[in-house]
Amino acid sequence: MTSSTKNHQAEHWKLRHGPAGLHLFNRTTGLNVLIDEIAVPASLYSRAPRQVSIALTNQCDLTCAHCYAPKTRHDLTYESVTCWLAELDASGTLGVGFGGGEPTLYPRFVELCQHVARETQLSLTFTTHGHHIDEAMADGLRSSAHFIRVSMDGIGHTYESIRRRSFQDLLARMKLVRTIASFGVNFVANEKTLPDLDEAAAIVADLGGCELLLLPQMANRRCSQIDDDTLQGLRRWVAVYRGSLRLSINEGSAEGFPTCDPIAAERGLRAYAHVDAAGVLKPSSYHATGISIGADGVLSALDRLANNLTENDI
Ligand code: SF4
Repeated sequence: MTSSTKNHQAEHWKLRHGPAGLHLFNRTTGLNVLIDEIAVPASLYSRAPRQVSIALTNQCDLTCAHCYAPKTRHDLTYESVTCWLAELDASGTLGVGFGGGEPTLYPRFVELCQHVARETQLSLTFTTHGHHIDEAMADGLRSSAHFIRVSMDGIGHTYESIRRRSFQDLLARMKLVRTIASFGVNFVANEKTLPDLDEAAAIVADLGGCELLLLPQMANRRCSQIDDDTLQGLRRWVAVYRGSLRLSINEGSAEGFPTCDPIAAERGLRAYAHVDAAGVLKPSSYHATGISIGADGVLSALDRLANNLTENDI
């Protein structure tokens, strides 16, 4: 086998070892294959979380009331992020998701995405409000990003009252987004947005989106948690939805929803970790505290974080 053939194969399949078995992942197609007949010895488990999200910056030009991103001026350095990604990639992480704040405001955002595509085997997603994606950015991101999550809470006036941006402009941006990569929509569900859900799902499907990530509103200083009636309404909506979009929900809100987790044996930090824009590693973006990543790298911070958590979190 020539080295170029090896590289070609390496580009297509990445292996991960864990308590669920041998996991093969193709970042180009998004295909996951879990060989659960293979009992992987614990000593061979991949050390890094399966998925890691990184808040590149806390900067954002929107002021959504439901936002829980810290309003500080932190940005991660390009050098730190690329070092951490190299460590994670070599230790079994399959995908990285960039967020913020608004990740497209990160000064070297396109360059960083191109680095991920070129120098790692990680699948790359990012979450964006979408309003800075123009032709030039789209050109730079094509063949780097594998999936894009666009925030769209409600439609028309509902959306505009939350985001203070034109809904028509968002739709135009989403038409551009779909030329970059597959995309889905993040939908914060509350009493204001739930009535729009049917129409929102139809619009996303018409635009070529493939996923609707439901995010029941969490409490912060400016808004309260989704109320029980609205949450029940969301559960009823999910139960009867027959459209083409794949539905998903954040893990912390999944109780009472019909979910499926094929890799349930990988929980807590084996499955997921988050790095905030101050370089603090946490079990999720909702956690207030974590472990600062030092000069010894992200995996050392992961070990320290695991030591600080209970059995259930690891
Ligand atoms: S667009 Fe996202 S990061 Fe910006 S304020 Fe809204 S929720 Fe927060």
